[in-house]
Amino acid sequence: MTKRDYYEVLGVSKNATKDEIKKAYRKLAMQYHPDRNPGDKDAEEKFKEAAEAYEVLSDDEKRAKYDRFGHDGLRASGFSSSGFTDINDIFRHFSDIFGSGSIFDEFFGTSSTRSRGGRRRSVGTPGSDLRVVLNLTLEEIATGTEKKIKLKRYVKCDDCYGTGAEKGTSKKVCAVCKGSGEIRQVSRSIFGQFVNITTCSSCNGEGEVVDIACRKCQGEGRIQDESTVKIEVPAGVHDGSYMTLRGQGNAGKRGGDNGDLVVVFKEIEHQYFIREDDNVIYDLHLSIPEAILGTEVEVPTLTGKAMVTIEPGTQSGKLLKMTNKGIKHLNQPGFGDQIIRITVEIPKKITSKEKELIKELAEQPNFKSKLVEDKSFFKKFL
Ligand SMILES: [Zn+2]
Ligand SMILES: [Zn+2]
Repeated sequence: MTKRDYYEVLGVSKNATKDEIKKAYRKLAMQYHPDRNPGDKDAEEKFKEAAEAYEVLSDDEKRAKYDRFGHDGLRASGFSSSGFTDINDIFRHFSDIFGSGSIFDEFFGTSSTRSRGGRRRSVGTPGSDLRVVLNLTLEEIATGTEKKIKLKRYVKCDDCYGTGAEKGTSKKVCAVCKGSGEIRQVSRSIFGQFVNITTCSSCNGEGEVVDIACRKCQGEGRIQDESTVKIEVPAGVHDGSYMTLRGQGNAGKRGGDNGDLVVVFKEIEHQYFIREDDNVIYDLHLSIPEAILGTEVEVPTLTGKAMVTIEPGTQSGKLLKMTNKGIKHLNQPGFGDQIIRITVEIPKKITSKEKELIKELAEQPNFKSKLVEDKSFFKKFL
């Protein structure tokens, strides 16, 4: 199935403002919300599609990438635009972006965490995301690599299985909110009755409190831990792009969802190569005799070394292409090229003997300056 254009999905123009985009999404989210369309698969798909479009278009950076390169551009920059498979991910995802409150709270005017089928009591407090920067050499990027990183993070306490309650004890219903997780305050005025709903601060909206705290984690349900995480780096990633490993961040408190691990790729500057998209440029300096007479030279490549033939009469600035010797394309078959950029070195200092020889050479027919005779050369600069 081909992906629909995100602007088309939200029904807005290409130069829609952030506000217009938000409004359009809000309308669609309400229309296709699962609470309003129970069991309707088509509505669910539309709900997911709109969420994906909104995720991209509400983010300046992603929107700019999408505007320039479309769906492929997002994929190439490490943003997985595979969409949302689980509808609860949408609620969870936007609650990440918008801080503690879910975007749907804002949209639907409730103060509770909504989920499919209506209101649910939240379990624990979600863990925070972790961000690590991964330094990669061009060689590692060229073919993809596997990296191991040591990570200090919260993990679920295995003594209490993340509940925070000491072994053999259980949680008890919060006395303040009677287990609902929220405090309702009703006030009356001449305009009518207002119900103000806030999250119960005594149990953080969980509805339950730990009676006797687990000794190992002091009732948090998580402990600090250091472990090694394996990261599969795909070939062709770019400096500054990132990969999100869902659920690999900090464990939540008392059974709350894990945060994500965000791996940011950093490209280490290469000794020989300059990267340009998936091509690598190598500057090769030749002496005047080498350029005139031709030669064979050994050049480094991303996978070792290679011999290159320099034809007699090679000009300064000439580009030689070594096909498929560059970086593998991200998520696509094929490789970039290695480009050899020739510079012919003009010596700045010469000996008196060399001076004599050059002067002699200058009298030879092929070494006479052509600039004086060729007026069209000058015309280009006028
Ligand atoms: Zn514990
Ligand atoms: Zn409570």
